[in-house]
Amino acid sequence: MSGRILIIDSVATNRVILKVKLLSAQYDVSAVPSIQQADAVMARERPDLIVINLGDTSEDRHGFCKALRDDYNTGDIAILGVGTGNTPTARLAALDVGVKDILPHPIDETFLLARVRSMLRQKNLHSEIWVRDSAGRALGFEEDKATYDAPVRAHVLTSNTTIYPTFVRSVARLYAPNTQILPLDRHVPLNEQGIAPDIFVIDATSLSDPHETLFRLAADLRSRSYTRLATQLVVVAPGARDVAAIALDVGADDVVMANASEQELQMRCKQLHEQKRKQDRFHTQVKDGLQAAVKDPLTGLFNRRYADPYLKALAEKTHQSQQEFAVMMIDIDHFKSVNDTHGHPVGDAILVGIAERLKENVRGIDLIARIGGEEFLVALPNTTREMAEVTADRLRSVVNESPFLVAGLADPLSISVSIGVAIGGEKHGTALPDMEDMCLMADTALYAAKSAGRNQVAVAA
Ligand code: GH3
Ligand code: MG
Ligand code: MG
Repeated sequence: MSGRILIIDSVATNRVILKVKLLSAQYDVSAVPSIQQADAVMARERPDLIVINLGDTSEDRHGFCKALRDDYNTGDIAILGVGTGNTPTARLAALDVGVKDILPHPIDETFLLARVRSMLRQKNLHSEIWVRDSAGRALGFEEDKATYDAPVRAHVLTSNTTIYPTFVRSVARLYAPNTQILPLDRHVPLNEQGIAPDIFVIDATSLSDPHETLFRLAADLRSRSYTRLATQLVVVAPGARDVAAIALDVGADDVVMANASEQELQMRCKQLHEQKRKQDRFHTQVKDGLQAAVKDPLTGLFNRRYADPYLKALAEKTHQSQQEFAVMMIDIDHFKSVNDTHGHPVGDAILVGIAERLKENVRGIDLIARIGGEEFLVALPNTTREMAEVTADRLRSVVNESPFLVAGLADPLSISVSIGVAIGGEKHGTALPDMEDMCLMADTALYAAKSAGRNQVAVAA
């Protein structure tokens, strides 16, 4: 995996040893002795990850990390600390300024490389989330308080269910009463109907075959929709850096030693669940973004961009199953005069009202799209010519049978539509129905309906 790494360490031998280890893993590595030189390197090339010696107190390295984390331009750079005293206070101070983990000297190479791989893997997602989050805040978007304030749910998976290890109680203290302790055996007992947890804390302190178990568990949790988005923190026995490395390589979001201080454990949990909340928001935004791309904002109907690929898929499906289907083009009659007489906002209200009536009068499987200013398309799968004619006439009539009440207008407006219908799949030929042809036929029928006096349905022969 490629990645650009910057080492900051004032001790030359440390720099060389670390650089060799990381170079041998094919990373693009630079090493500098001071923050000042680091700034110069970063001005030229932005690193993906910084490995910084926090033990050197001749300059404010903690302040440097904090500034990176808090700056919009650098907040997504992953930071790994080395060299600091391995005391609870020193570790906490590092985590507190955005350092992901602290590796005391001498550095365990296997764990170092696993940690680096994991941090680089997470970085792409973090970068995206970071950008959106910061951009959103810069534009003044409110955080989604409801999601943010909802209680965090934790599932602790442990094989020690008779006497809980200390860290289990620390997790429970943090998330009580939303902590569930479940036995860690071959199959995780998951309640698909329940509320998904935000975080899994996995006890790997007494696994006889950690590689097998962690691999299976990680894969299992990531494969279910219910648990896929939850973050995973693996707790390993003190000093078991090999197991910690495995945990990171199989996809755990973080690892911690079982003898870490309660504050460190809780801080890691908090960082993970905050990350998870950001991730959730990001997923919602992507989903909303997709919706926005395929929906017409005025009527809430699908737009042309969605209708085109939908029709293509419908053609294929109906062709395989030898079903008949119908396509309708609906155009509002004399709509220009509605705008001219009453103004554009009234025209818009009519468009919304018509969309409502159309929606209420088709089946759930039918698709309605607004494909032009005052034109709608309706696609009806599994529909015969007779059914299509009846439906089209119902749609025509629900628009015309009662006039539209529009806010600000004293009198309700009487509106009508003309509808052209084309039927596909009738002859069950070998060729795939051509949707462009179908739409053209429906359009031709629509113009026939217009010429015949409007407020009527015409079906293509
Ligand atoms: P016909 O019966 O032949 O269809 O006549 P028409 O007036 O409906 O057709 P024409 O194509 O001449 O005019 C369509 C009008 O639709 C023109 C345009 O102002 C209006 N229109 C298109 N999109 C919108 C919209 O989003 N909002 C409003 N209010 N009007 C729109
Ligand atoms: Mg038109
Ligand atoms: Mg029209």
